[in-house]
Amino acid sequence: MKILKFGGTSVANDENIKKVKSIVQDAPDSKIGVVVSAFGGVTDMLLNSLDRASSQNKNYENTLNEIEERHITVIKNLFPINKQSAILSRVKSELNDLETLLEGSFLIGETTPRLSDKVVSYGELLSSFIISEFFISEGLDATLKDGRTLIKTDESFGNANVDFELTYHTCSTYFANVKEKVTVVPGFVSSSHNGNATTLGRGGSDYTAAILAAATNADVLEIWTDVSGMYTANPKLVKQAKCVSHISYEEAMELSHFGAKVLYPPTIQPVLTKEIPIVIKNTFAPDEEGTYITKNENDNTKTVRGISHVESITLLSLEGSGMVGIPGISKRFFETLSQEGISVVMITQASSEHSICVGISDKDAKQAAIAVNNNFEYEIASKRIDPVHVEQNLAIVALVGDNMKSHQGLSGKMFSTLGKNNVNIRAIAQGASERNISAVIRKDDVKKALNTLHEAFFEENIKQLNLFVMGVGNVGARFLTQIKKQKAYLKNELKLNIRVIGISNSRTMVFNEDGISLSSWEQELANGVKANKDTFIDRVNKLNYRNSIFVDNTASTDVAKTYTRYLNNSISVVTCNKIACSSGYESYKELKQLAKKYSAPFLFETNVGAGLPIIDTLKHLIASGDKINKIQAVLSGSLNFVFNNFNANTTFHDVVKQAQEEGYTEPDPTIDLSGIDVMRKILILARESGYVLEIEDIKNKSFLPEESLNTNSNETFFESLKKYEKDFQLLYSKAAAKECKLKYVAQFENGKASVGLQEIPKGHDFYNLEGSDNIVLFFTERYPNQPMIIKGAGAGADVTASGIFADIIRIGNF
Ligand code: ADP
Ligand code: ASP
Ligand code: MG
Repeated sequence: MKILKFGGTSVANDENIKKVKSIVQDAPDSKIGVVVSAFGGVTDMLLNSLDRASSQNKNYENTLNEIEERHITVIKNLFPINKQSAILSRVKSELNDLETLLEGSFLIGETTPRLSDKVVSYGELLSSFIISEFFISEGLDATLKDGRTLIKTDESFGNANVDFELTYHTCSTYFANVKEKVTVVPGFVSSSHNGNATTLGRGGSDYTAAILAAATNADVLEIWTDVSGMYTANPKLVKQAKCVSHISYEEAMELSHFGAKVLYPPTIQPVLTKEIPIVIKNTFAPDEEGTYITKNENDNTKTVRGISHVESITLLSLEGSGMVGIPGISKRFFETLSQEGISVVMITQASSEHSICVGISDKDAKQAAIAVNNNFEYEIASKRIDPVHVEQNLAIVALVGDNMKSHQGLSGKMFSTLGKNNVNIRAIAQGASERNISAVIRKDDVKKALNTLHEAFFEENIKQLNLFVMGVGNVGARFLTQIKKQKAYLKNELKLNIRVIGISNSRTMVFNEDGISLSSWEQELANGVKANKDTFIDRVNKLNYRNSIFVDNTASTDVAKTYTRYLNNSISVVTCNKIACSSGYESYKELKQLAKKYSAPFLFETNVGAGLPIIDTLKHLIASGDKINKIQAVLSGSLNFVFNNFNANTTFHDVVKQAQEEGYTEPDPTIDLSGIDVMRKILILARESGYVLEIEDIKNKSFLPEESLNTNSNETFFESLKKYEKDFQLLYSKAAAKECKLKYVAQFENGKASVGLQEIPKGHDFYNLEGSDNIVLFFTERYPNQPMIIKGAGAGADVTASGIFADIIRIGNF
């Protein structure tokens, strides 16, 4: 004997029902009970029509018409015309009875739990009738048996309690005597001893099937649904979730209790007692193995077997000094909830006995709060207990596994994983069985929490980084190209899965929750919506992805001003834009503090020396206890390029123009030529060395004439360079006469910084600096005489992009 149960999606339409028939037909030659749900969505429609009718909303008729339409369409598509009329007339007559019930409710403007059960039963009654007729018409040896005559319950309408003794007897007698091979039974429906229709709770068809399996000592209970088994997390929310091939009854029970809807929680108990295996199978992929649920076979290799979650949770907390040491408070609290018929999903009690906190379903919150406050009226009035505190819009996430009890550190890992992603934990509980650890979090954080936990516990340490990139000019575009090239390597070798979720330039922006294709991002961006920094931030925050990183490839002050809003939401910031770190010290400090507070790295390696590891090295020196005494550096790739190419045979104007055209200068070349860019860089190095310094504190004796400095367009600036060519030539010839080269040098010593053009003699470390290279000398306590030197290409889109990339990887390894 075998029991097969097909859920709502499996019987949602004629095509699916044909699949069900093939599965049943292919089953081995023993007796089979086929339990079916209502056609997908029909239960909700029935409840909705009753809700409308009882609130005297005429629209209930529309819903009823839709229900009729659904069934008629299925019949017309399943049966040949000559067989349709008998089936249609039976279905229409049932629907007429249903209409009479709804009309009654409409007229008196009222409903009762009893009426609700009667109405909602029609879903399964109709589906089972149509499916059994279809089986017969297709030549299967089949019959229909009304579930209400098999399963007997009390009158707790909506969630009735089964009279197992009577039910088992009725079921076993029926199946022992039935002649047909296949019996189709409507799931979910039952009846009371008084003959009233009752139901087994939402999702209860699974339970019907389990009861039949236990009553008949079936060999197996097969639950056919729309996923290929029980997954490590809800596959609809966690794309990386994997099907679990084997799981214990207890684990399955915990997972389903904490929200794994694929199995209705009460389903396990009846089959567990008789050790009947449950197999979860996919109607739409019947060849896949599915999940076997059996007795614990003690497979010690796996600790956490699954992660599940329950949405719409309210926390009720009872607190007060009057609770300490007084026996019976918890008892009264729980009794109050139980008298109201409210089920408690989770309990925590502080060890100080100062508070008790329970998680209940949102829908019960109001009723529970009123009842508890009434019960503790006296203590509340005398201020010994506070009125019950109600917190809504929460959810529970739970880790489940039989072997969790023998492993330490799982809860630590769970909470630190959530903490790193700024998922605030409101309450924690660990079941005494130690088979589950659950945490109450904000509902809006569920998807992020499930995905980061899944990554931490199931994904061989593959970490997903979600990037939001602003600015795709020279540097930004190269950066995206580099990611595209390295994606596979990063995933395989470094276990980092990098996805670009959002891109914006100054005109448009685009988001793709599955990741923007790095081959066609240009078109996607061109077809995007109008760019807006605020909307961009809102979107990033709303998506609330784990390991989110905002990447600023612009040189914009306005963009730099938005960093706090990212860091405040635990979103890391990587930037090549120097403005944030070189404006007021207070705002630099604020960004560093926010990064620390929210565990969201704020990295800007490319602010100095493009891709050269200057800031990172400095950080390591300081962290390991070294102290920076002096810094000497050539930090402007553009100025180095200019003075390396400028000589008696060229003009200063032409060389600067060439530097601009080849992308070595900022778009506005005065930023480089005036020395401001170098000031910003030495300021950042001084600050990173632990000194408090402002840009105004830096001495800058400009080599540019006043007039060139004060121009207000690139055009007039270049004109002025022509005008002062003689002065520039003089700078060159003076240095050349001493066999010196001109270098623009930044210096920091004794807390003071300066920048300016210097004549560098032969033999000096700076003398042979080529092209647009940079060089930094760190004189520290550990390197007092022979400085630590970092030297290499210090400008250019490719090296800057690779510096940004390196920061991203640092965050990946964080
Ligand atoms: P049926 O109508 O067949 O009874 P349900 O909708 O009740 O189907 O249950 C199947 C659904 O359960 C899946 O589509 C999936 O969204 C959800 N689900 C939640 N958690 C899990 C999990 N851990 N593994 C598999 N499915 C899950
Ligand atoms: N049709 C019922 C429901 O939607 C029972 C079930 O499908 O399991 O809850
Ligand atoms: Mg279900």
